[in-house]
Amino acid sequence: MIRTRFAPSPTGHLHVGGARTALYAWIFAKQKRGEFVLRIEDTDSQRSTEQSVNGIMEAMKWLGLIPDSQPVFQSKRLKRYQEAADHLIKTDQAYWCYCTPEELSELRLEQKNRGLKPRYDGRWRPENLKIKTVPDGIKPVLRFKNPLAGSVKWNDLVKGPIEIANAELDDLVILRSDGTPTYNFGVVVDDADMQISHVIRGDDHVNNTPRQINIFNALDYSNPHFAHLPMILGQDGERLSKRHGAVSVLEFKKAGYLPSAFLNYVARLGWGRGDAEKFTVTELVKWFSLEGVGKAPARFDTEKLDWLNKLHIKETSDDELAGSVRTIFTEWGKDVDTHDPPIIGLIALLKDRATLLTDLAKAAIKFYQYSFPSEDMINQYFSEEIVVAMDYLREELDSIEWKKDEIGGVLKGTAKKYKKKFPEIAMPLRLMVMGTTDTPALNATLEILGRSRVCKRIDDQMPRLKRL
Ligand code: GLU
Repeated sequence: MIRTRFAPSPTGHLHVGGARTALYAWIFAKQKRGEFVLRIEDTDSQRSTEQSVNGIMEAMKWLGLIPDSQPVFQSKRLKRYQEAADHLIKTDQAYWCYCTPEELSELRLEQKNRGLKPRYDGRWRPENLKIKTVPDGIKPVLRFKNPLAGSVKWNDLVKGPIEIANAELDDLVILRSDGTPTYNFGVVVDDADMQISHVIRGDDHVNNTPRQINIFNALDYSNPHFAHLPMILGQDGERLSKRHGAVSVLEFKKAGYLPSAFLNYVARLGWGRGDAEKFTVTELVKWFSLEGVGKAPARFDTEKLDWLNKLHIKETSDDELAGSVRTIFTEWGKDVDTHDPPIIGLIALLKDRATLLTDLAKAAIKFYQYSFPSEDMINQYFSEEIVVAMDYLREELDSIEWKKDEIGGVLKGTAKKYKKKFPEIAMPLRLMVMGTTDTPALNATLEILGRSRVCKRIDDQMPRLKRL
């Protein structure tokens, strides 16, 4: 069975890059009717926090990347790593190293001075020890006996065949002196125990893979397939980071992106199918392939994400959008009755204009809460003549049938009667009724707002305008 995993270290938020790794692993499992699992790599107790774990899970839930089983926490599996380490010691594939940190930095410095790549020189490797006197007071680390000859090869499902000579690899620490496993060791034991068939991850791990393959072999485990994803860069070509704006998934949620649009965009960072840009999650599951993942780094482009979000908003049901907008109102602390006027009608009117869900909420709230137009705006759009025209228009609104065509008729009729262009009437009326000149079609806006609210807002503003 195909099993993929996402294995974040809970030392911060889930970022765009992590979301893409999780997405590809999730899609790959779904399309192959396999399983997707989550493993929290929290053996670094100094840097791992529960808050990060919760944040990562919340972000994954928002994106709908739901694991098929309970998450596995590395911190709960320390005994298992110990057991695997014991096996390596017993089979003479690991050894204790008593080097002090000072000794190791001295070694590094010496190698640097000789123009060599810093690497552990194997001084505690049993065959290199003439007399084995264990120094007092030093807690040893356990090192893996990396093969000295030959090479490690794998066919990376994104990068193609890769071969690394064992001579390039030193004997890496697999258990720290406190008994906790290092990343490269924990990952192998877990990927084997969790029967991971495909390891899909960022290419910052590509250098770890030959070391991990050697450990898989030493433990007699079969190797999974590996797929290393190219980096994500900012527009300036630098590795995507906070400097480029939002990078944490939950920040995108808060900013008003739809999970479907975010997933669509993130999927396109490095993967493509012809010229197509817009994909639903179902389409992604249908069409995604690791062969379709490019080798070159992708560039994050907020404009394109915005463009996709706008498209996804248009195609999302009014009901679902209404739910999202209500949630945003609550987050903003706006306690409004979204039945009057019915929010669903507003969504239909506003959704084509919105790039973000927050745009939709900002436009919708104006129907429930009146915001007072500024003095400057009033001065710009009102004159004595316009006030007179508004008085007339207000009278007319009392007697017509409250339908947008009828309302449109009154607006046009007023413009004609006072020899004004349509916007000269529409803009001041928008200001009076909505507190802004930025609204959808005015007749439809007024229809939804309802006669009593429209007339009350005009009546409330009139005395102020007549004093101008
Ligand atoms: N925990 C590692 C990280 O967050 C990922 C390990 C892996 O996918 O093998 O970078």
